Amino acid sequence: MSRLPLEAMIKVKCSDCRHFREAPYQALRTGCWHPDNLVVTQKEAFLDQQQIPGNHKKINLRGDCKQFEAQPKKLSLLQRLMRLGA
Ligand code: SF4
Repeated sequence: MSRLPLEAMIKVKCSDCRHFREAPYQALRTGCWHPDNLVVTQKEAFLDQQQIPGNHKKINLRGDCKQFEAQPKKLSLLQRLMRLGA
């Protein structure tokens, strides 16, 4: 029986990653918006809409993307109210 390192057995999902944005609410195009994976990049901020994200299905085909970063944890209702100063 072969033993795999724990890291190799953990699969990551793009939907849990902070670089994944989905159209139409988060971005114009669905895909991976990690700066290294952008297909077309623009330097100027006003040209952001012309950027084309990478194909997240292809990049994370085996679920072992090295650029995966978990999304920030959502605050509870109480924490959000306290931030507002209510
Ligand atoms: S391909 Fe990698 S970096 Fe891009 S959204 Fe998926 S897990 Fe995140």
